Amino acid sequence: MTGTFVRVALDHPLPTLFDYHWNAPEPAGPGMLVSVPFGKRDVVGLVCEVAAHSEVPADRLRAVNAVCTACPPLSSEWLALAAFAADYYQRGLGEVALPALPQALRDAARWPRLLAPEERYSLTPQGRAALPDALPARATALRNLAEALAAADFLLAADARALHPKAIATLAAWQAEGWVALDLVDAAAALPATTSGAAEPQTLPTLTGEQSAAVEAIRDARGFAPFLLHGVTGSGKTEVYLRALAAILAADATAQALVLVPEINLTPQFEAAFRARFAALADTAIVTLHSGLAEGERARNWFAAHACRARIVLGTRLAVLASLPRLAVIVVDEEHDPAYKQQEGLRYSARDLAIYRAKQLGLPVVLGSATPSLESWWQAEQGRYRRLTLSRRAVADAVLPTVRLIDLEDERRRGRASMEGLSGPLIAALKTRLERGEQSLVFLNRRGYAPQLACDACGWVAGCPRCSAYVVLHKPERALRCHHCGWESRIPRSCPDCGNVDIAPLGRGTQRVEETLASAVPGARVLRIDADSTRRKGSAEALFSDVHAGEVDILVGTQMIAKGHDFQRVSLVGVLNADTALFSHDFRASERLFAQLMQVSGRAGRAGLPGEVLVQTRYPRHALYHALGRHDYVGFANSTLAERRDAHLPPFVYQALLRAEGRTLEAALAFLQQAAAELAGIPAAERVTVYDAVPLTIVKVMHVHRAQLLIESASRAALQATLRAWQPLLRGLKGVLRWSLEVDPLDI
Ligand code: ADP
Ligand code: ZN
Ligand code: ZN
Repeated sequence: MTGTFVRVALDHPLPTLFDYHWNAPEPAGPGMLVSVPFGKRDVVGLVCEVAAHSEVPADRLRAVNAVCTACPPLSSEWLALAAFAADYYQRGLGEVALPALPQALRDAARWPRLLAPEERYSLTPQGRAALPDALPARATALRNLAEALAAADFLLAADARALHPKAIATLAAWQAEGWVALDLVDAAAALPATTSGAAEPQTLPTLTGEQSAAVEAIRDARGFAPFLLHGVTGSGKTEVYLRALAAILAADATAQALVLVPEINLTPQFEAAFRARFAALADTAIVTLHSGLAEGERARNWFAAHACRARIVLGTRLAVLASLPRLAVIVVDEEHDPAYKQQEGLRYSARDLAIYRAKQLGLPVVLGSATPSLESWWQAEQGRYRRLTLSRRAVADAVLPTVRLIDLEDERRRGRASMEGLSGPLIAALKTRLERGEQSLVFLNRRGYAPQLACDACGWVAGCPRCSAYVVLHKPERALRCHHCGWESRIPRSCPDCGNVDIAPLGRGTQRVEETLASAVPGARVLRIDADSTRRKGSAEALFSDVHAGEVDILVGTQMIAKGHDFQRVSLVGVLNADTALFSHDFRASERLFAQLMQVSGRAGRAGLPGEVLVQTRYPRHALYHALGRHDYVGFANSTLAERRDAHLPPFVYQALLRAEGRTLEAALAFLQQAAAELAGIPAAERVTVYDAVPLTIVKVMHVHRAQLLIESASRAALQATLRAWQPLLRGLKGVLRWSLEVDPLDI
């Protein structure tokens, strides 16, 4: 059949494009969003190809319903990025591309409103004369609004609302006074912001020699240039990003930058630093993209990037798939952080996609960390990434803390006093800090009160009825909670099996340590920060600002307190219960532990106070703790890499996991065994090692039994070719509820 046809990607597990007849008035082009009939429904799809022929018989070929004219087409580079991710992670193109778009674009009913022009408010000359003096002195929020209007050429409705919840009503009133003018501008067609990032009103710190060298290397890079910025905690990596971006954005008034951070909710100071530094850009030229944003705001920010109005996009892993037509540089801060790995749906690594994106476009990409992932470190060792080193703390007088190991066995042998898992030396050190008016951190990677509730008399342990897991005791919430499925129940008064009333918590979580600290260090103001204490939106930020304001003496928490914070008054860090990760079955556990301990140690002594780290351990001679004591990332990385090489583990081999979920464990395992048998017919699989199918550590979650099959190869090409050939065979197998493939899994 001839005419105009489009091949459309739909959010559907079949990895094919779907042909449609094109009879819309506008010319067809790749990257356009269309509404098409699919089965009995209409769905939104993405045009990938335009063709003059279709193989689909005329009677089965349907026509495109509507075209989203409000959204400029996605670029061919963006389509290529989505296609790469789809191929690499063994998904359909539409399954990658469509979920990466804002919800408003994926719903054709909402397209007409996308066209709604953007409202821009600006001050009239009368308004400039009258405001803010006409406002009551104590109307701070209104005054802020007036000042923001005076400072910028215009305010978008969204920006105004962010300043003041009733801003629109106020602006309407001011408009009636003749103080404010309202213009309507076509949002999607708006031109790139042309203000340059050159003017920097702040007084900038003088860069250290190492910082300057790093900034120059990034600024002067041409073509694809991957950098590994290895800088100790407090060495001023952020300053390097800021200066390099300022140079790149100033050199090209339309250039865009993408800055990825592991968790944006935890790094408001990071966002503040960017906003302050790039104050010369319009407010709307810096946008954030993360899952914590309201849907409308996320759509606006996505659009701003797509329409090139946003110059800097600051986001979490999902931002790596944002449309940035003028992208000129990418930064991945804390590149080692496991949060860059999406753990459901499309299981991608945002860091790896960032590198692909830079390669595709020929750009510099900066991976920053005090403890780079061994994957990245190995790339640098081979000379594939250029290493930039910041070996000292940036602030004069700030030195890395001393690390002291407290031998728990020795403490016990000597009969030294301890309290509920807090050793004597740690309690003494905490008291000293309290007397000196300094702050302490106590780090423990386990939330809740106790990981188990048990009966001494009969051996009963409280378990989840839906999972093969113990439930965690949460004392303030007076509940037992399953951390795998969310099941919750009241705390029983007696053992449900034998009636014994002496049931007792076993082990320690952050809540219990918080309780112990309150009595062990009398007079200390103790604050706990973990996923439980920060459940409400914005509460983490509020708690952290209490710490910064000096209203807290001891902060106890999980890895949430370890990340990125620049605490000025912390001089002591205590580490509890780190040993459990030393002997984990997961070969990455020690790498993660080392990174976490380096990170949390890095919170101490940042602003000139001498810092100390106390690690409670039963294995004081363990190599990991020794490397920590010497702040020796390089030694740790190189010896761990040597072990990995000997054991044929990543990054020396490439892995993929097939996971199956069944009603019984037998069903899941049987599926995996059949899947393994199918590999025999795939030529590329000759270079692939197949392991036995095994149950997951937590076999059952929500009544579903889970098992996995690991395959690996020293050849990336052989692994990918195997997966490509395997995928259609797997679709023919039956007997499980779900199965999924994961490429480059982090948790095995
Ligand atoms: P990192 O991200 O490497 O841990 P930060 O970027 O948080 O380090 O910087 C640590 C501190 O050093 C911050 O307070 C920052 O303002 C300060 N700083 C960075 N560079 C300099 C410099 N060249 N001179 C003085 N202070 C600096
Ligand atoms: Zn009992
Ligand atoms: Zn459960």
